[in-house]
Amino acid sequence: MEAIDVLVVGAGLAGLHTARRIAGAGLDVLVVDRRASLSVGIRTTGIFVRRTLDDFDLPAHALGPGIRDVLLYPPSRRDPVRLASGRDEYRVADMAAVYDHALLAARAAGARVRLGVRYTGRISAGTVRLSDGPLVTRFIVGADGARSRVARDLGLDVNRHLIVGAELVYPIRSGGDGPAFHCVLDPRIAPGYLGWVVDDGRHAHVGVAGYPHLMRGGLRATLAQFARTAPGAVPPAGPVGRRGGPIPVGGVLRRLAGPGGLLVGDAAGAVSPLTAGGLDPCLRLSELAAEVTVGYLRTGDAAVLRRYAGAPLRARFRGRLLMRRLLSGVRSPAAAEAAVALLRTGPGRAAAARILFGDGSFPDPGPAPRVTAARRPAA
Ligand SMILES: Cc1cc2nc3c(=O)[nH]c(=O)nc-3n(C[C@H](O)[C@H](O)[C@H](O)COP(=O)(O)OP(=O)(O)OC[C@H]3O[C@@H](n4cnc5c(N)ncnc54)[C@H](O)[C@@H]3O)c2cc1C
Repeated sequence: MEAIDVLVVGAGLAGLHTARRIAGAGLDVLVVDRRASLSVGIRTTGIFVRRTLDDFDLPAHALGPGIRDVLLYPPSRRDPVRLASGRDEYRVADMAAVYDHALLAARAAGARVRLGVRYTGRISAGTVRLSDGPLVTRFIVGADGARSRVARDLGLDVNRHLIVGAELVYPIRSGGDGPAFHCVLDPRIAPGYLGWVVDDGRHAHVGVAGYPHLMRGGLRATLAQFARTAPGAVPPAGPVGRRGGPIPVGGVLRRLAGPGGLLVGDAAGAVSPLTAGGLDPCLRLSELAAEVTVGYLRTGDAAVLRRYAGAPLRARFRGRLLMRRLLSGVRSPAAAEAAVALLRTGPGRAAAARILFGDGSFPDPGPAPRVTAARRPAA
């Protein structure tokens, strides 16, 4: 039977980045993803924040124009609050190209990637079942998204607090007012979150997210309704794509690692509870996950694994978890109008600018502990 050091389940950004780092340290890594191609079944809008663009090597050709303006609309859509930054705060990426780049980088570092292969469970502590046969692995990295099967199989924490998001992707003509990020606070279309319109230079992404049980008529109908009245440039033609999926907003999970493996990305709940941005967190946490995996497999020292704990990160999320509760509490159009009116005040604008243009999307997990003594390698 095939035997490897590390199986990474999921070739999203979290899985590919973690695999790249682990393989770069010389371990034998296999990544599997149930998707046959990474350019299909994309779930995310692909908005990258400045901090990610500064810290990680994203392919320049995949990034749309810099976005500096954010417009926050109340349910009436009248008189939006406009916040302007002096620098490019966001870029929307062509995610197929970003995944392709991450795939090539993982392979260049020595990871093997098998697409169209599904992880279906653990047979025993060291053996897993894949759709193309069983495999022996020393360690599993669960990068399999918000509803992680790996998390359940390893007895780690699972996401319980989820919203759902969906968007339509429209072609746009070049020209117009320049790129801007339009956000609509309206609990009728996005209960507990926002509706958005943003463009990547070639496509306009029109989306909604929120608590599904509060979306009257369901997510699909709500999105169609929003798309008919969405602010920003009106797309000249029908949608060419549709994206969507669950988004964990309960904060990073507490128990993220055990002797059999660990979790990264959405599987770890590494998403900002307030903004629902997960692309920066998944990359940042992947760095630590890779260091911990390599350190643990080289030494067998459980103390290395304990460094990969969610509790300290959760503590740094307190403010954002509180704001998530406040956002969830905006249940009527009148409350949303009042919330946007607050953002028109000096302190309201300053707070919104801090959230939207600040550097705090995800706390830096910090370096893993240095591995000093070589102990018994983990079995
Ligand atoms: C509609 C929407 C818009 C969003 N927009 C943004 C945004 O603009 N900016 C931002 O920062 N965040 C955004 N997010 C959140 C962000 O996309 C995620 O946090 C991020 O993509 C998570 O990456 P990941 O690698 O952890 O998971 P994923 O990208 O979901 O990757 C998980 C992978 O695991 C694979 N998989 C799952 N189960 C198995 C299995 N059993 N066997 C094999 N493979 C498996 C899946 O096929 C998938 O490829 C958005 C989310 C949604 C739903």
